[in-house]
Amino acid sequence: MILQSVYIAEKEYNQSTIEAIYNCFVCGSCTSWCAGAEIGGYDIPELIKSARKDIVKKGMALEVVENIKNSLLENNNAYNLPASASFSYSIEEKNADVLYLLGEEINYKNQEIAKAVIAIFNKIKLSFTLLKDEPTSGKILDLLGYENESLLKAELLYKKIIVSGCKTIIVSNPLEFDVLKNYYPKWGFVFTDDIKILHFSEFIAENIQSGKIRLSQTDEIITLTDSEFLGRFNNVFEAPRIIIQAATKNFKDLRWSHKKMLSTGEAAFTFNDKIFTQGSNLGEKIIVLANDIHAKRIITLSATAKNNIGNQSGIKVMDIAEFVAELIL
Ligand code: SF4
Repeated sequence: MILQSVYIAEKEYNQSTIEAIYNCFVCGSCTSWCAGAEIGGYDIPELIKSARKDIVKKGMALEVVENIKNSLLENNNAYNLPASASFSYSIEEKNADVLYLLGEEINYKNQEIAKAVIAIFNKIKLSFTLLKDEPTSGKILDLLGYENESLLKAELLYKKIIVSGCKTIIVSNPLEFDVLKNYYPKWGFVFTDDIKILHFSEFIAENIQSGKIRLSQTDEIITLTDSEFLGRFNNVFEAPRIIIQAATKNFKDLRWSHKKMLSTGEAAFTFNDKIFTQGSNLGEKIIVLANDIHAKRIITLSATAKNNIGNQSGIKVMDIAEFVAELIL
């Protein structure tokens, strides 16, 4: 209705309508659940992103959004943290066919996920490198409506990836996976066919299927929370299930899974003109579903999902990399 009022009824944006446009998590639930989606429907996430670009062009972006943009431009993260706080600050780049890309959330906050991935790579004797001072990918800037700034940052990361000479990019964070796969080519940053982009779960699932990775067995009931940017927008649903099912016969899907998943808040940055802090509200809904199936563990696919679900219920919540690192033989 807001978009209609602006773009059809030609009303001007105001503080309240701009806040509402930025309250959207760009999660895509409305599109997945829309009864009219199959005959066209509305692609709300795309409409929201386009509206944000207009708001930014008019110079009407909220101060809280501008602050996130400035932090991304200056610090390569949304939290105003210095480069020295990042995981990639102290690493040394190597020549290797495999590049492991962290993404900001893991680089600056959930470094335990990076450590789990690296432990697995070392265990299977994989030769890999990380990027020293990994820059932001431009994805969050794009989601917030900053077209030119997202291109600047994307170009920087793209050039670093090309210079690394890697043949495979393994990505942990769904936002970075999505931007590399779907947006870089549109923005002119094309990866030739000899560079493969895999989500971490796809890489591990391939290695499980080829017998290179084996996991010890558990009787626990384990469930998975799908990721908006990995699953809904990129159809990566099966790889994490292959991994979990390699370790337990008691894998159970949540009542709402695959495209009907509940939002984990991967692109929830602000709400009502403030930094978004209500992630646990999203997590509680997922815990209710996990309790319904008596799950003892919830496996997550993004740092945001892990943080939002938290360990608030007695159910163990862990990233897919931590799960593999714990059980790898
Ligand atoms: S928050 Fe998610 S479900 Fe709600 S409008 Fe935005 S994309 Fe649609």
